[in-house]
Amino acid sequence: MANTASHPNPTAWSAPFWEAAAQRRLVIQHCRSCDASIMYPKRVCPHCLGEDLGWRASKGEGEIYSVTVQKAAPPTGFEDRLPYVIAIVRLDEDVQLMTNLIGSDAEHAECGDRVTVDFETRSDIGVTLPVFRLVNPK
Ligand SMILES: [Zn+2]
Repeated sequence: MANTASHPNPTAWSAPFWEAAAQRRLVIQHCRSCDASIMYPKRVCPHCLGEDLGWRASKGEGEIYSVTVQKAAPPTGFEDRLPYVIAIVRLDEDVQLMTNLIGSDAEHAECGDRVTVDFETRSDIGVTLPVFRLVNPK
């Protein structure tokens, strides 16, 4: 049986993020009180504790802040995809998220490389995941 602990489990406040991803759109939560961008989705703004939160479209572009190649024994539902690439991407909107890099050159990614969003529908776990690809192939 697959380990479902690592699968996205949308909450009332993160559901719009996953609904947008299912439509192949990347969105960022936004605080209407203090204008902060918020990632990951939260129930209240971590900057001003405001509750008037909305969503903005992301351009889906950014750079790699950190990257690693997972080669063995991950305690996740991604065992069948080894090796795979995990990265923290800093979006141009100045928030960052943990994601996967895809593409045949993903294992050669380095910090600072430019990336662009793509989407991967995982019918086995019932979600569409925002993933990223290198802008300049290696
Ligand atoms: Zn705020």
